[in-house]
Amino acid sequence: MVQKNIFIDKYKEIPYFACPHCNTWRLEFLKSDIIEKESWLNQNLRDNSSWEFDEFLMKFILIANCQNRDCWENAVISWEKFPERNYKPSFDSEDWEERFKNWINYINENYYKIKYIFPAPFIITIPIEIYDLYKDRACWPKCEIVENLIKSFELFWIDEHSCANKMRIIIELIMDYEWIPKESKNKKGENYRLSLGDRINRYKENNEEQSERLLAIKWIWNDWSHSSCKLHKEELLEVYEILESILEKVFSKKEERINKKVSEINKNKWIS
Ligand SMILES: [Zn+2]
Repeated sequence: MVQKNIFIDKYKEIPYFACPHCNTWRLEFLKSDIIEKESWLNQNLRDNSSWEFDEFLMKFILIANCQNRDCWENAVISWEKFPERNYKPSFDSEDWEERFKNWINYINENYYKIKYIFPAPFIITIPIEIYDLYKDRACWPKCEIVENLIKSFELFWIDEHSCANKMRIIIELIMDYEWIPKESKNKKGENYRLSLGDRINRYKENNEEQSERLLAIKWIWNDWSHSSCKLHKEELLEVYEILESILEKVFSKKEERINKKVSEINKNKWIS
């Protein structure tokens, strides 16, 4: 399940992300581990600006450590700490002067924006059936699917559009895994490359539910690639959620494993 409240645009406090190595413990740190520094550029602006400029824009860097003693992975987290001016207007008052006074009362609250985490925490669960193969570098195209997923988790922070592109590659790889051809022949007998939409339509013949989900991702991707609109993290998280369900259906044998265990218990009336 995608934890939508963890992967956001700005943080009042940097959270403890799940460790991307053992995937069970968290990457923790002390507040004093965060190194912050204001740039000379910003300092210069503050010193020499003709208008009132009092914003301390800082860069920060932090190394967070997994608390699992069998793991001990650490991750670098960094980018900016910036103040946001939050006004505290009170519109309850009948008195206009009182309202104005409240309007100019503000507080600067500091936020962290993360643009880099390496290694990046997993945004969705990768089925163990393909993750274990990836660790052994054992099988195409499953390993490439995991590799692109991990890359997409890194790009999620750096560049949303590049992250979305990785998801498109993952869908093509799922089509490869399902033996959906990349090419077809036209009436003249010449080969032509099938579009991703064509491949998903062919997949639909035997996998109606999954192909509908894949198609939904493709439409969202088309919309992104043809517009100059900024792609938001919340939109990416929606797509990740659909992708997670597809990966689970295509690769995970979890249902099979549970059903097998249940029938064993029912047969033996005990856990063997
Ligand atoms: Zn760990």
